[in-house]
Amino acid sequence: MKLFLKKTIHKKIIIFFKNIKKNQKNKKNVKKILKKFIILIDPGHGGQDPGAVNSLGLQEKKITLKIGIKLKNLLKNSNLFYPVLTRNDDSYVSLKKRRDFLKNNHVSFLISIHVDSSKKKYVSGASIWITTNERMHREINNFIKDTKEHIYFPKNIQNLIQNKKYDLFLKKTILDLQFNNFQKMEINLSNYVFQQFKKIIKLDKITPNYASLGILSSINTPSMLIETGFITNFSEEKKLRTDEYQNKIANAIYMGLKNYFQDTFLSNLRDT
Ligand SMILES: [Zn+2]
Repeated sequence: MKLFLKKTIHKKIIIFFKNIKKNQKNKKNVKKILKKFIILIDPGHGGQDPGAVNSLGLQEKKITLKIGIKLKNLLKNSNLFYPVLTRNDDSYVSLKKRRDFLKNNHVSFLISIHVDSSKKKYVSGASIWITTNERMHREINNFIKDTKEHIYFPKNIQNLIQNKKYDLFLKKTILDLQFNNFQKMEINLSNYVFQQFKKIIKLDKITPNYASLGILSSINTPSMLIETGFITNFSEEKKLRTDEYQNKIANAIYMGLKNYFQDTFLSNLRDT
């Protein structure tokens, strides 16, 4: 774990923690946090943007926030993770702000939480969405054309991208390779989350869907959007509004993350 994190941590993360440099004790706390996987939890919508609203007036933004906070509390109690929320109350956070957060910090994974809706009231179940190849290649090409834009990357990649002696083709190749790796991570984590979801919620498929969404298209962070059920389905909405079911959903995502990170990163290091 240390090896992995040494490669990936970045001092910019320090902006997460205001006044942290005040004394030696706090410096130790920063070190402790940097040894954890940083998970950005993004409860969808908020403030003037309610998201989907069903015929009973239940708003998507309220459920996403509750699940997000529950997930944060579970991750916080684990010594593997340091969770951060894009919002922890009913405030409006623009897509730009959500993306800027990823742009400026090292985040191990973005988990965006949403609730689905459909005109067809019988439609139900959870799904996971990850970015399309086309969108990501477009994002990479745009970045390569204008590398003055600051985006956090691990040091080795940062050095290569900023070095004028390397041509655009090499830089694009490196970022494409990194994206391929992120996509594998996204598909693998999806599998782990689906393993948990299938115990508690209907699934039409156990592979992720692909979409060109702004929140999923940061070129430096593996990301996924989880639709936790349909607010427009009678029996699912009845469950989604309860604390008990929100706990189950949060716990399923937490167990998926925990098992994935343990199996993928910790066992790899034990093998070497
Ligand atoms: Zn939504």
